[in-house]
Amino acid sequence: MLSKGFKPFDPLWLAKVTEEIVCNGDSRKYTSFYATGVYGGIATGYAVGCCLRCFFCWSNWSRDFPELYGKFYSAEDAYKNIAKAARIWNVKRARISGCEPTLCRDHLVKLLEYFERDNRIELFILETNGIMFGTSKNYVKEISQFEKVHVRVSLKAGYAKAFTARTGAVQEAFTIPFEAIKNLLKYNVRFHVAAMTDPRIMPKDERVELIKKLIDINEVVAANLEEEICDPYDTTIVRMYIYGIDPVAIFKRKPELH
Ligand code: SF4
Repeated sequence: MLSKGFKPFDPLWLAKVTEEIVCNGDSRKYTSFYATGVYGGIATGYAVGCCLRCFFCWSNWSRDFPELYGKFYSAEDAYKNIAKAARIWNVKRARISGCEPTLCRDHLVKLLEYFERDNRIELFILETNGIMFGTSKNYVKEISQFEKVHVRVSLKAGYAKAFTARTGAVQEAFTIPFEAIKNLLKYNVRFHVAAMTDPRIMPKDERVELIKKLIDINEVVAANLEEEICDPYDTTIVRMYIYGIDPVAIFKRKPELH
């Protein structure tokens, strides 16, 4: 996780070393399978591993210590576990959460093939930070074959410097998630954009800049921006504390809208 004076990293490098730990053929590490009330009820596989290190991240410690957490599940077994949670809780939506789902490409594509054939599941929500989709048009093209997939790209910053300060990744990677949006438009994938615009995290001028960048890409995408609020999960508080940000000062303020 980030600490004061950290050295910015290349997120593609972190993706590669993380994949070496959490992916094995078509298997990926997961810590649990369950259903939750978000998105109106959704079956979820909690997978391991991300290529960013956002200080406001709520994911459990498997993000930071992927070698210590989770067990390997083949795409078929992960599908069966998520589908079972969907049956038990009577929900028709599915997703992978707690990580960056686009790591372990072979696993994700096979998992989506299973869901595409499952008539009980209507929608698969693919939440991503946009790093892998912004660096591979081919990957986005492959995802575009799945009719049940709805991608949610989550942006972290409106300026390159702020991107590094929030995620730990080098400033050069700031534009990658915006490239992901262009790729999703190019291949006609169903998606929307979210952004961590919580005013306790992102200043007003940066939010305006982020929205301008989205408008330059596509006005409809910008108009449908989902604005995220940072919640005080235990892991978030510890990450902020270790980074040198006072979580009390952040969370004692109400998350008023911009
Ligand atoms: S907030 Fe998302 S992109 Fe950022 S470190 Fe956590 S899981 Fe990764």
